[in-house]
Amino acid sequence: MHIAFFSMPGHGHVNPLLGMVSELVRRGHRVSFGTTGTFAPRVEQAGATAVVYESLLPDEADPGARWPTGMAGIIPLMIRESRLVYPQVVAAFAGDLPDVVVSDDSLGGGRLMAEVLGIPGVQVWPFFTSGEHWRAPMELPDDGSGAAWLTELGLGGYDDYVARSMDGGIVLLPREFQYAGDTFGERFHFVGPCLTERAFQGDWPHDDRPLAYVSLGTAFNDRPDFYRTCFAALGDLPWRVVISVGQWLDIDALGPVPANVEVHRRVPQLKVLERADVFVTHAGMGSTMEALYFGVPIVAVPQAADQPMNAARIAELGLGVVLDAGTVTAAQLRAAVLAARRTPELIAMRAAVRSAGGASAAAEVIEAAAR
Ligand code: UDP
Repeated sequence: MHIAFFSMPGHGHVNPLLGMVSELVRRGHRVSFGTTGTFAPRVEQAGATAVVYESLLPDEADPGARWPTGMAGIIPLMIRESRLVYPQVVAAFAGDLPDVVVSDDSLGGGRLMAEVLGIPGVQVWPFFTSGEHWRAPMELPDDGSGAAWLTELGLGGYDDYVARSMDGGIVLLPREFQYAGDTFGERFHFVGPCLTERAFQGDWPHDDRPLAYVSLGTAFNDRPDFYRTCFAALGDLPWRVVISVGQWLDIDALGPVPANVEVHRRVPQLKVLERADVFVTHAGMGSTMEALYFGVPIVAVPQAADQPMNAARIAELGLGVVLDAGTVTAAQLRAAVLAARRTPELIAMRAAVRSAGGASAAAEVIEAAAR
């Protein structure tokens, strides 16, 4: 069968889908993946055919590009993107329509194509899902552009469409991590993270020192003061400290880097986490699940978007601690890193993540939706 994937063109959106892609290809399906040129090589490496489109969202190849930090600008931006992408994917898939469309973005051009043409759609939740008993406390206000676009496409009212298209799907968390997880019915499949080999990232040499890994993810990471706080907090420890700073930071302006600290733009995170003793993280959901998969204690320093509520859940479940990004001192950070332990709760969550079903459970949901 022909399965088409679409996601927002960002690391935290594309990466979580790659394991599912590989699994579906392994099962003999043909997978297309609509994305930007930046992400085409990695979806191809996972076994998909990349269908490349032009996007107006921030791309790391553009040094001036940034994601809006406020929620108010998100929907208008996503709708402008959707209007740009929709005609491109309709043209690209004409004559080779997929049997099912899998996407993490119900307002994205690919998913809307499926809705308009009556192709089954599967929603993927790479973050908390919302339902009757728990709703993410994140308002994404529509300024009217979403409603206008859906009306133009003949898909009905905005609220109805969003509620309908997101009522169920594949959730990339174990049920135990989801807020009010027990209250979600059988339309929600909590399969946990679908991790896969990321050969595009290369290998990683380890040594015998204890390892602290620091990353604020790929979106809100241009935080030179925070990295200097890390230098002060961890710079004289007999540890190896690996910091991934992302695409945008001016590394030369950081000042002197302590001898035990390495600053990288990007690292093969799964390989680093496999051996890390502590993860100082923004608590993006991708990174959070990856840490839990390897049972790495978390020191969360949430920056924006859903990160504060992810971090709150980490603390509530005894999987790590939360520090305030605006006020954290070197002394606090050092104390948190030195106190980090594999708690029994962390070991139990690691087991829950590993037994949630992963890519093969997700593939079964997708196959069933296509039938
Ligand atoms: N990542 C990576 N190397 C890095 C930094 C990040 O491979 O140096 C990956 C990480 O493994 C995760 C994704 O990028 O899969 C980041 O997603 P997340 O949801 O944690 O945060 P976002 O970047 O979307 O804020």
